Amino acid sequence: MKVMKFGGTSVGKPERMHQVATLISQNNQPKIIVLSALSGTTNSLIEICNLLEQGNRETAKQKIDELEIHYKNFIIDLLSKEEYQAKAYEFISEHFDFLNIILKISFSEALSKDILAQGELLSTKLFSTYLSEVGIHHTLLPALEFMTIDNNEEPQIGSIKVKLTQLLQQHSNCTIFVTQGYICRNAKGEIDNLKRGGSDYTASLIAAAINASVCEIWTDIDGLHNNDPRIVDKTYAIEQLSFDEAAELAYFGAKILHPACIWPAQHFNIPVKLLNTMQPSAFGTLINDNKPTKGVKAVAAKDGIIAIKVKSSRMLLAYGFLKRIFEVFEKYKTSIDMVTTSEVAVSVTIDNNTHLKKIILELSEFSSVELVFEQTIISIVGNEINAQNEIMPKIFSAISQIPVTMVSYGGSGHNISLLVPRNLKNQTLKALNTGLFDL
Ligand code: ADP
Ligand code: ASP
Ligand code: MG
Repeated sequence: MKVMKFGGTSVGKPERMHQVATLISQNNQPKIIVLSALSGTTNSLIEICNLLEQGNRETAKQKIDELEIHYKNFIIDLLSKEEYQAKAYEFISEHFDFLNIILKISFSEALSKDILAQGELLSTKLFSTYLSEVGIHHTLLPALEFMTIDNNEEPQIGSIKVKLTQLLQQHSNCTIFVTQGYICRNAKGEIDNLKRGGSDYTASLIAAAINASVCEIWTDIDGLHNNDPRIVDKTYAIEQLSFDEAAELAYFGAKILHPACIWPAQHFNIPVKLLNTMQPSAFGTLINDNKPTKGVKAVAAKDGIIAIKVKSSRMLLAYGFLKRIFEVFEKYKTSIDMVTTSEVAVSVTIDNNTHLKKIILELSEFSSVELVFEQTIISIVGNEINAQNEIMPKIFSAISQIPVTMVSYGGSGHNISLLVPRNLKNQTLKALNTGLFDL
């Protein structure tokens, strides 16, 4: 069995959905199809949540109505038979009736998760209706019946496996299953989600749970590129990456993959393929551990970083200093990305400012603290990166004009990270493209 995940742009237009239907019905191999919401929908739902949180119901209502019109227009081109259009019209109305009821209820975090789930619930129902219209036999699997996270927001892979296997067994004569990406249930049994871009994570969790032959991530580009194609002009798709390389790139900002989506595939040794829905014959990127290469493969950037410089106020007891710092971050469940140390000071970076004030307050009890906001981590990734000739001089001469805030290498052999001011991110990525890839 294989997993095929289609992102927002791959299902964002009726003709794209038709194309996805063609792609998934090309052979009889059993498969689970994971779908994102139509492109733009999750952004609109987030906007609606924000408006409701601010108490601006009038504008929220306008946005809901706009979205409803979008969906009701979508089915005109998606479906051709009146009977199927009527069916789709009915369930779209039901979902929007639900959103309109929510408008009247006082806003809460849990309610916002219900709102955000509407995107994937709608896209899968639309796709399923189209498959039925064109006579493609399939089963719609409700992700909310098997995809669960625990109290720490970690997926419960064991129970996902049990529940999913049971559901699949109930339809043993079926070869095409369709399910929602992104959405799940949390430890309280409420609707929740796997964070932005989470459909990739759903796909790889499912692939791990069913021991799939491959996890295919179908998107709008021909694979993972050596640099951010939204910022740098000349980039190219990388044919093969190791799990470690892909995990670093996903974590450090390559938007094509959800930051956590590699570990389930890696843990269960399931190859991941990144493919282009608009150009299905392109090779794409294969992620596995078959033939590790050496040297730089790609560069990625992660924004929204805060650097925290912690200087010991007591030089004595230096051996306990790191422990005390890390305990504060552990207490507030805030993960650290980069760390550098000198004799009396430690600098760390975080991307989550939820508990920043409390963290600073506690660190200040035993040190002086300085903050640098608006930073970006630039990660240069490649297996045994240092094996490449003169990699360090190449990096530093490429960025000689950039005032680098921090540098980190050695945590693993496959990542060199630089912290730079956010406003110099594009310049840094472009300079590295020329300096490292001669582009
Ligand atoms: P989907 O909706 O299919 O999940 P995403 O928008 O999440 O697609 O991811 C695909 C996009 O990621 C591409 O269109 C591209 O602009 C962006 N991207 C950023 N960095 C990279 C990279 N290194 N390689 C490929 N794509 C990247
Ligand atoms: N629809 C969700 C998002 O836009 C999940 C996904 O597309 O992967 O973030
Ligand atoms: Mg995505």
